[in-house]
Amino acid sequence: MSSPGKNITSLTSTCCYCGVGCGVVVNKEKNGDITVSGNKDYPVNKGMLCSKGMNLHYTVNDKSDRLLYPQMRYNKSMPLQRVSWDDALERTAAVFKTFIEKYGPDSVAFYASGQCLTEEYYVVNKLMKGFIGSNNIDTNSRLCMSSAVAAYKLALGEDSVPLCYDDIELADCFYVTGANPAWCHPILWRRVEAHKAANPDTRIIVVDPRVTDTCSLADLHLQINPGTDITLNHAIGRLLIENGDIDIGFIRSHAEGFEQYSALVFKRTLVESAKICGVSERDIRLAAKYIGEAKGFISMWTMGLNQSAVGVNKNLSLINLNLITGHVGKPGSGPLSLTGQPNAMGGREVGGLANLLPAHRDLKNPLHRQEVQQFWKGKPISPEPGLTATEMFEALNDGRLKAIWIMCTNPLTSLPNVRLAEEALKKAKFVVVQEVSNKPETLAYADVILPAAAWAEKEGTMTNSERRVSYLNKITDAPGEAIPDAEIICRFARKMGYPGFDFKNSTEIYAEHVKLTAKTNIDISGLSYEVLKEQVSVQWPYKKKSKAGGTERLFADRKFYTPSQKAIIHAVPDAFSSERPDADYPFILTTGRIRDQWHTMSKTGKVNKLNQHIKEAFIEIHPRDAAAMHLKDGDITVVTSRRGEVQVKVKLTTQIKPGVVFLPMHWGKILGSDLHRANNLTNDALDPISKEPDFKYCAVNIAKYKKP
Ligand code: SF4
Repeated sequence: MSSPGKNITSLTSTCCYCGVGCGVVVNKEKNGDITVSGNKDYPVNKGMLCSKGMNLHYTVNDKSDRLLYPQMRYNKSMPLQRVSWDDALERTAAVFKTFIEKYGPDSVAFYASGQCLTEEYYVVNKLMKGFIGSNNIDTNSRLCMSSAVAAYKLALGEDSVPLCYDDIELADCFYVTGANPAWCHPILWRRVEAHKAANPDTRIIVVDPRVTDTCSLADLHLQINPGTDITLNHAIGRLLIENGDIDIGFIRSHAEGFEQYSALVFKRTLVESAKICGVSERDIRLAAKYIGEAKGFISMWTMGLNQSAVGVNKNLSLINLNLITGHVGKPGSGPLSLTGQPNAMGGREVGGLANLLPAHRDLKNPLHRQEVQQFWKGKPISPEPGLTATEMFEALNDGRLKAIWIMCTNPLTSLPNVRLAEEALKKAKFVVVQEVSNKPETLAYADVILPAAAWAEKEGTMTNSERRVSYLNKITDAPGEAIPDAEIICRFARKMGYPGFDFKNSTEIYAEHVKLTAKTNIDISGLSYEVLKEQVSVQWPYKKKSKAGGTERLFADRKFYTPSQKAIIHAVPDAFSSERPDADYPFILTTGRIRDQWHTMSKTGKVNKLNQHIKEAFIEIHPRDAAAMHLKDGDITVVTSRRGEVQVKVKLTTQIKPGVVFLPMHWGKILGSDLHRANNLTNDALDPISKEPDFKYCAVNIAKYKKP
């Protein structure tokens, strides 16, 4: 579409921040700059944008921090030098070939991002699993939603979000746990707010150890002790059973595991559960009453459940509440995992994690591996899961991994126990960094730097939290010699001598991807770029001749993707394996996001308006704890854990429980100092199933800073 006046072109795209996936209209001005506004016709946001989305254009217009050309050094003591694309990729291919020949394909790895487009994910996954012959391809989505992926698969048979955003307006009870959507998924939350305003009887229950902005809409806030989510969910489950507020018909005909679950949840009394969780029996009863009375019940969650050493069990304990009440596969109901990143879902579709295959195929299934191998005409696919995000850095540290290629992510701010990751990159024999910005700390360790095109500088697709695939137009050219990520990977694959990477454009990559989904549960074989451009966005599955817009809701027939076609109610223990506070480290540290920053601030940190909201890192401490340590608001504290330290200003607040402190996760190194970096402290313990780290709980000590 084109528009008159000062704009040359006006094209649609999708916001590249959170998994809500708001539609935007991007205008390209005559001077080459872009402006962004909410797309009024887009079903997700209907024209609304949050502070981050409204300021998207600054990140593209400001090219001052952009990487403009490939750089390389021949040994670690040399400075990086500008080189041609051919030289950079030929040398990288030569080094990768040497390591693969000498140490095997598992000696190299790719670490990518939930912000990659689906086409980018597709080619890097194909390269690694199909041609290099290793499953060492993982992404920062591992840090974000891998617990939800595993839980959906265990409970519903596949990693499939059953409901859609339009169910919000049909629900009359929301259970929001381990999430602060008012800040982190703002437009989705505005829909909940509007729905509640129009329907005041709608009940909203928020579960969070902190009082957040989300709580201001809540009828009930359960301010639980950190880590006690499973106990709470089981207590509510027990009350629902006791009160007869379960759907016996659904349980008998469409679910398995209820007897074991029921026996388990009755092992704890309500008194015990309330004590463990640190909330009143009355409030747990009230939560069960609201859920029990609901005609439409949506549970929503994100990092508070996912980022835990028992993240999968936390997810399952929550999904159980939807299953025992039969609130799944029907309008206004279902368990809705709020995806953190804009295209974590697209990455899952193409199998872009170390334990997945394309289109939700199973790595352990020999037939699935064979299907993909034959389709790609590549090497046999290894049945062994590859290294996950944190495991890659462990393997660099102990020498198993020789080379890592980091693609569009900033692990030296975002990984837990991050100083270990820093040591790992120092020891790595060869580091490739494929990046947009010249800011990430990883660049200091790179042997090769490859400049990538940013959002709006390339075309492709993304999928949001409700399975909605959207098409993103290319609006403007990338600066200097930067090129799209998919093109970088394909050029490299050709330098390696692999067939199957001579795509002319992203249309051809996308066409290959959708072909591989045919006859699977996420079948989008009917969803060409043409269909997407015409319909702007479509929810999968979308087979050939599907209805316009795709599939709003899954499991309407109550047939799940498990072998028995029944949903599985898992009787998960409420055992807890996080690092407990003790005499040396007496406080519980939890980490999270602030409203106007995104991840490691490489985009939002460029925008003055967004930096005005909260200007520097801080630690939230309850006044009672602060008084005991003679700390005042604004004092500098030294916070230590068994892994490192930070120095940040105190923010006194009664919105956190005594004994618990909170640090935002966004800040990395500033002017060479890493003392604001929350992940110096966090624990790299992992959930045994999802391998997601325990970001939300570790033990720390706090002391007033004294000048040396
Ligand atoms: Fe972008 Fe998420 Fe804000 Fe929507 S809610 S504008 S997708 S950051």
